[in-house]
Amino acid sequence: MASCSSVALSSPSPSDHNRNSNNMNTARSHKRAKVSHYYTELHASISPDSNGTSSGGEAAPAGKLEELKQREAELANLLAAVRREKLSAIQSRPLKIGVLGFGRFGQFIARTFQKYGTVVVTSRSDYTEIASGMGVTYVPLSNLDSFLAQDLDVIVVATSILSFESTIQDLVPPLERDLNRRKQKGDLVKGPLIVDVLSVKEHARQTMLNLLPTECDILCTHPMFGPDSGKHGWHNLNFVFEKTRIDGVVLEQPDDMPAELQQDNSEAFVDNAGQVHSVHEDSESHVEAMDRVERFLSIWEEEGCRMVPMSAKRHDAHAANSQFITHLMGRILGSQGLAPTPIDTKGFESVLKLVGSTTADSFELFYGLYKFNQNSLDTILQLRSAMDEVVDKLKEKEDEEEERKNDTPTDMSSVAS
Ligand code: NAP
Repeated sequence: MASCSSVALSSPSPSDHNRNSNNMNTARSHKRAKVSHYYTELHASISPDSNGTSSGGEAAPAGKLEELKQREAELANLLAAVRREKLSAIQSRPLKIGVLGFGRFGQFIARTFQKYGTVVVTSRSDYTEIASGMGVTYVPLSNLDSFLAQDLDVIVVATSILSFESTIQDLVPPLERDLNRRKQKGDLVKGPLIVDVLSVKEHARQTMLNLLPTECDILCTHPMFGPDSGKHGWHNLNFVFEKTRIDGVVLEQPDDMPAELQQDNSEAFVDNAGQVHSVHEDSESHVEAMDRVERFLSIWEEEGCRMVPMSAKRHDAHAANSQFITHLMGRILGSQGLAPTPIDTKGFESVLKLVGSTTADSFELFYGLYKFNQNSLDTILQLRSAMDEVVDKLKEKEDEEEERKNDTPTDMSSVAS
């Protein structure tokens, strides 16, 4: 990967750079050594004569399959060892996670976060009992200073879409007091990582970039599941994320990047002049900040989510034509008053399920999906015209049939003439 260190970046000073470069070089070479160790093992496990094209050609000699299966098992063991090492790295530095907004979704994610670290929650309503039932600490939202005094590594904002901006606004003054406290303590990472889980992403991203102090890193996420679809676990469920700002640097987003870097977006970004940088090039605080993001993302990975790096912009375009339209259809069918019948088909059972799962979410959430995704209105208009188109087709067909009927001779006399 090309990198350019001549372009000034916003956060670390040159003196920071010099002070940390020795540590950084050691950390980098250690990392490289580990990576090359795994590659060596991997290469050793792959047949030197194999070029990966096994179709066609001569039949494999007897015994070949057994040998391949053995190698397959070796690779599986190697992968399992890497996974174990990864898990112990996560467990060796458990995160202290604050959840702001302990409603339906906040409770759902806090339960899982607890497996990986300490959880402190805050909300407008009093959730003391639910929190103590789950074994997490509850602090009232009116006392954000004591929420922040818990030395949180990460704050996950899980309030409604509609209240998100005012929530972030209210968070800023106590956050600034917390930053001063951390500064006096001499913390390497200057502020907590702020994560949102909103179902609309451009609004969340812009609000956080506009309002949060630059000392706070920003991670935009959207778990594409909730308390219903994720009640049996998170395996294979999509988790969309955008590493938005790390150590004061706003990162270029995956789908805005040159194609050759898209595979490696966690390691690189492009500045305004089009120069590519490694996020690790500047300071130890950058590495620490990135490590904290990775530890948080690992929770979702370990739970089996399908991790999808994607820009907020692209997320919103996709979500309007997938998630929003699902909620829209559920609401429309729900307001039609559909109910089970004694002769339900499987298809109709799915329709009722859709109505049930979409109306279980608050109407506020549905309104937020509409109001704060600029693509949602287009989706409604397209749906309306698609409905008209389908109804028109039915009418056309009916008219054609009618015409055909009128053209058909009806009595024998007309046939004879
Ligand atoms: P929601 O109705 O969107 O949000 C409820 C939460 O917002 C509660 O914690 C509530 O606090 C808080 N809240 C509402 N108005 C507030 C205000 N004026 N000031 C402070 N807090 C306020 O329902 P939700 O399902 O829990 O969703 C929460 C977030 O998760 C949303 O941003 C949503 O987009 C996202 N999300 C939800 C799902 C899902 O399946 N439900 C999936 C992915 C992402 P109190 O309860 O204390 O009043």
